Amino acid sequence: MRDKGDGGSGGSGRKGRQMSSCSFCGKSQREAGPMVEGPKDVYICKSCVELCHNIIRQEMRKATTTRAVVGKTPTPRQIKEFIDQYVIGQDRAKKALAVAVHNHYKRLTHKDQGEDDVELEKSNILMVGPTGCGKTLIAKTMARLLNVPFAIADATTLTEAGYVGEDVENVLLRLLQAAEYDLELAQRGIIYIDEIDKIGRTTQNVSITRDVSGEGVQQALLKMLEGTTSNVPPQGGRKHPEQQYIQMDTTNILFVCGGTFSGVVDIVSRRVGRGGIGFNYEVTENTKIEETAELLQQVIPDDLIEYGMIPELVGRLPIITALSPLDVNAMVKILTEPKNALVRQYQQFFKFEGCQLEFTKDALKRISEKAIARDTGARALRAVIEDFMIDAMYDLPERSKSGTYTVTPSVVEKKQKLFGPKKRRRESA
Ligand code: ADP
Repeated sequence: MRDKGDGGSGGSGRKGRQMSSCSFCGKSQREAGPMVEGPKDVYICKSCVELCHNIIRQEMRKATTTRAVVGKTPTPRQIKEFIDQYVIGQDRAKKALAVAVHNHYKRLTHKDQGEDDVELEKSNILMVGPTGCGKTLIAKTMARLLNVPFAIADATTLTEAGYVGEDVENVLLRLLQAAEYDLELAQRGIIYIDEIDKIGRTTQNVSITRDVSGEGVQQALLKMLEGTTSNVPPQGGRKHPEQQYIQMDTTNILFVCGGTFSGVVDIVSRRVGRGGIGFNYEVTENTKIEETAELLQQVIPDDLIEYGMIPELVGRLPIITALSPLDVNAMVKILTEPKNALVRQYQQFFKFEGCQLEFTKDALKRISEKAIARDTGARALRAVIEDFMIDAMYDLPERSKSGTYTVTPSVVEKKQKLFGPKKRRRESA
């Protein structure tokens, strides 16, 4: 019967199908494309199938996440022990974060249950420490354990509305995207803002002209950190007046900020009355690292204000924790201990080819020293290893013989190849 009204273009069974419409969105087959037919003239088009799939997936995720996060928040010890599997050292920072995160989600649970006779304030966190020492890694690892959406933003790309660059709200958009547009879930996520120190004023003097990436951004961040309803442009990029916004409440989002605050050590050392490091006397790299670590642990909000952060912003980050620069020992551990340690990864590739790869202790030390010299923290380790391993990795799959290969300091220094032209005797450390 349906194809009767088909205006004379030659009705057939197939044509009749074409005229059916999606029972969910009402679009005709011509508009919506192929459809799935259910019993009693029910049809569903491709976009509605996708939509249904998303709705169901979101509901399922929400149920599991709510159970995981709010139902039984892991204890600070459990959080720290999980982070320990991936992040070496930085015990104080890990503890501080574990407690803060635990309390944050506890606070949410109790709010949900209407137990709010004591007002528990949100405790955003500031991590101070040199580049490549694990700030982002800690935040990322923690979010993984908690199974909450997590987004990373770089404060240096943020600008005040109206300037070229990213609006602060885009940070929220990223979280929303990580939550696959599940607003409820995103509103309980964690945002890591890197390089927060770079938007600080560089000196204490107050400028009357507005700066593009300085105080205005700090003001915008302030509101977000404290808890506000932000208009998030769903497509990202710059805001346009005609754009439809998603209203996002940031009250329950936990903000973790990180910054190197290079030079803040001098401020601390001046305050605590410590002389300069290594000017009059010989210092080894390790003493310097130890000294810096010790001073960093003493950072107080006032130091950061002197550094150039506006007091209000420092005030919204009530938990300040310092991470230490990594010394050779820590670097060697990073190379070998975490579940995804670089050395383990290389060894796995050798195993795939029926070979074994070993690193002598001295070789690990040499790699670490070379990485420290690059001044980018543990981030440099990969580059240092790649530098001497690339040729071996290039040849590895084509080697017919299985065998044990040992990385020694001379391999690290590229004075000797891992796969020598002749079979070499294994060098010991
Ligand atoms: P940043 O402190 O600058 O945020 P990241 O956390 O991004 O540094 O560290 C960069 C990389 O270096 C990490 O992905 C990780 O591989 C390694 N790394 C840095 N610090 C540690 C650490 N304490 N333990 C294990 N790996 C680390």
